[in-house]
Amino acid sequence: LLDASGRLLSTVFEEMTALAQRTGAVNLGQGFPDFPAPERMVNAASEALAAGHNQYAPIKGIPSLRTAIAEHQRQFYGLDLDAESQIIVSAGATEGLAASLLSVLEPGDEVVVFEPHYDLYGAVIRFAGATAVPVPLLPPRFTPDPDDVRAAFSPRTRAVILNDPHNPTGTVASPEFLTQLVELATEFEAVIVTDEVYEHLRFTGEHTPIATLPGAFDRTLTVSSAGKTFSATGWRVGWVSGPEHLIRGVTAVKSYLSHSAAAPLQHAVAEAVGFPPEFYEHLLDDYRDRRDILVNGLREAGLNPPEPQGTFFAVADVSDHYALAGVSTAKDLGEHWAENAGVVGIPVSAFVGEANRDLYSDWLRLAFCKRADVLRKAMADLALSL
Ligand code: PMP
Ligand code: GLN
Repeated sequence: LLDASGRLLSTVFEEMTALAQRTGAVNLGQGFPDFPAPERMVNAASEALAAGHNQYAPIKGIPSLRTAIAEHQRQFYGLDLDAESQIIVSAGATEGLAASLLSVLEPGDEVVVFEPHYDLYGAVIRFAGATAVPVPLLPPRFTPDPDDVRAAFSPRTRAVILNDPHNPTGTVASPEFLTQLVELATEFEAVIVTDEVYEHLRFTGEHTPIATLPGAFDRTLTVSSAGKTFSATGWRVGWVSGPEHLIRGVTAVKSYLSHSAAAPLQHAVAEAVGFPPEFYEHLLDDYRDRRDILVNGLREAGLNPPEPQGTFFAVADVSDHYALAGVSTAKDLGEHWAENAGVVGIPVSAFVGEANRDLYSDWLRLAFCKRADVLRKAMADLALSL
């Protein structure tokens, strides 16, 4: 996140995409789909542009998108949200998360985070002048020790950030973990900011938003995004839902970040959010196939990755490959693979602060949001390089 003199650096994702471009390796580093977004949604965007939806949208987002999101939350999770006061559209989950955190944090506040985590959380906590209190998700199962979770909360805790399903580890939160978080957030009067951008990429069981647990809704801001569900990470349309008293603050901050998300694209996403259940089933089936190609390929290469339960990422302990490559960390192996095996991944240590970094130095993250032929070729090239 920071250079030696404490200046903020650009993201690891840019760095890894540049590495893939420089070496010509398949980019399984930055998580973005290489296949098209749904045709119907793309056509709806063209129609919205032609229809002249080219000026500022309302800060909160266009009413039809907010209504579609409310209907989605009701259908999938039984949540009854008021589209007017409990939902706000953002420029991607990125802005939704930033506005959520900036709206609740004051300088000196503490924020409980689970490591490894998406890099944005650490950056925004810094912008707010708050302090991250990290709890490690312990490999190889990437579950936290409940005692560590409790010990991280204090009277200074203002928020806790959950990401479920979890990037980078591909795990999903257990019911016990969710319950403990709600209990602790209640006891310490903390806001739960939950990043559920992979809500529709859960391979086993049903996704349970933490906001649906008893006592949670009133202190929870739930963030999601069209980028993942509709394979359109470049559209920058996301949203936040929660109780009116918290959404009010998010809206105020968001007004001064992007003002509003892209107007024509909001019209198209409003249509996409209302796609029938078969759309979501196909999405998941396709992702399951992609996951299996990657995981089986890694297994054939002699690795033993845990099967991802959600997201479009897999992680693997790659230490068995060190001797062959003459390296001693996943970070160095990642560079070796980029040069010699035609595959780029991201070391999991890039998602971890100083204190816990050694726990993850053997783990590499690989994205499987790529076409099946691309994944097959990447795995064949990896096998050939051994
Ligand atoms: N949270 C997580 C966990 C993510 O993986 C990503 C995207 N990679 C985001 C947030 C950002 O989403 P968006 O592109 O909608 O801003
Ligand atoms: N969310 C994507 C990932 O984790 C990338 C997002 C980005 O490039 N900022 O790989």
